[in-house]
Parts: sequence; C-alpha cells; structure tokens
Amino acid sequence: MAGQARGNISIDVEECKGCGLCVESCPPKCLELLPELNAYGVHPAHYTGVECTGCGICFYCCPEPGAITVYRRRAPAKRAVQGGFHATAL
Ligand code: SF4
Ligand code: SF4
Repeated sequence: MAGQARGNISIDVEECKGCGLCVESCPPKCLELLPELNAYGVHPAHYTGVECTGCGICFYCCPEPGAITVYRRRAPAKRAVQGGFHATAL
C-alpha cells in the first residue's frame, strides 16, 4: 500500500553498487534500478519521485554509506550529514 509522500531521498549514482537491496526493502516500492549503467558498470538505484515516507529503511539496508540520503518532513533530532537523515521543509 502506498504511503503518503512525507519524505524524499537522493541517491548518488556513482556511489551505488546496484545491489538492489534498497529497491527490495522499500515498503511503498518507490525505488527502482535504472536501465543506464554508472561508472561501476551496474544499474544504479533511482527514486521514482513519489510516495517516499522518509522511513529510512533504504538507508539502513544500503551497504554504501554515502549512496543514499533521506529527507523527512517531520524529522527526528538529527543533524544534517551526507548519507544520513535531514530535517527539511519539503
Ligand atoms: S525512505 Fe527509502 S525505504 Fe523509506 S519510503 Fe523512502 S525510499 Fe522507500
Ligand atoms: S542499497 Fe545502496 S548500493 Fe544497493 S542499489 Fe540501493 S543505493 Fe545502490
């Protein structure tokens, strides 16, 4: 079931190794692997642009620390750091 778009993410395609763990783990299924190849010759993950809840599961599943950054409307008290959670007004 699709969740409300309360979050957003960005993916650094050149950090992504194309493992697909984030795609499989995302509850609203709003991630996909691009048909294009990145510099590693793999299909990087991509946010479809809708329905992200900001849950952060993709971030915790990703083996590449700098690949995914999660943004939430209502965020826990975390400081903004690359590859982490960001409090933001979407
Ligand atoms: S934070 Fe990641 S796992 Fe959670 S809904 Fe957004 S894209 Fe999916
Ligand atoms: S879990 Fe990380 S490395 Fe794997 S496809 Fe997703 S962004 Fe890329």
